[in-house]
Amino acid sequence: MPEKGMLIVLSGPSGVGKGTVRKALFKEPDVDFKYSISMTTRKPRKGEKNGSDYFFVSKEQFEQNIREGKMLEYAKYVDNYYGTPLNYVQKTLNAGHDVFLEIEVNGAMQVRANCPGAVFVFLTPPSLDVLKNRLITRGTDKMDVINKRIKKSVQEIGMMRNYDYAVLNDRVGNAVNNIKNIVKCERLRVNRV
Ligand code: 5GP
Repeated sequence: MPEKGMLIVLSGPSGVGKGTVRKALFKEPDVDFKYSISMTTRKPRKGEKNGSDYFFVSKEQFEQNIREGKMLEYAKYVDNYYGTPLNYVQKTLNAGHDVFLEIEVNGAMQVRANCPGAVFVFLTPPSLDVLKNRLITRGTDKMDVINKRIKKSVQEIGMMRNYDYAVLNDRVGNAVNNIKNIVKCERLRVNRV
């Protein structure tokens, strides 16, 4: 039996650059952990593909998955559901691979409660102004949605103390290297659950 893989959770406030950091991380030739594609009821943005960016589903389908116990975690985030399908994570960890989740903080806290061996990384913005500017220049949301996301981000930053590591996203390359280093160290731990 291969040893069970490690679950790595990257979280942090909206607009901090989790998606950008995750994409850059997975372009690194030496990154061998597997990305768990999330499910959402949000509509695809321009260029997003079903099955690679997200599994885009209806609210009814998502709620049925919750009822049937098919989600490892889920959260309602700015009027849409987002969640991690349980089956892929279980199957991949059991096959001995490390699995990487990129999720918002409420979902991360559910994983914290249910998966004691998981490693939690909080991506922090250099400042709230930087965060707001990133959301505006990203250009994917209207101003009322941006304001909702910023309000939520302030609450989310307060959750940092529940994480194992904080990584500053001043530059994507720095954040990527720090996350790779964290994973390297965690793999060397003698007392991982
Ligand atoms: P976006 O709409 O910008 O793609 O994502 C909104 C938020 O949902 C981001 O903070 C993103 O990290 C988070 N998110 C993406 N997938 C999941 C998931 O599976 N579970 C949870 N709880 N949050 C997710």
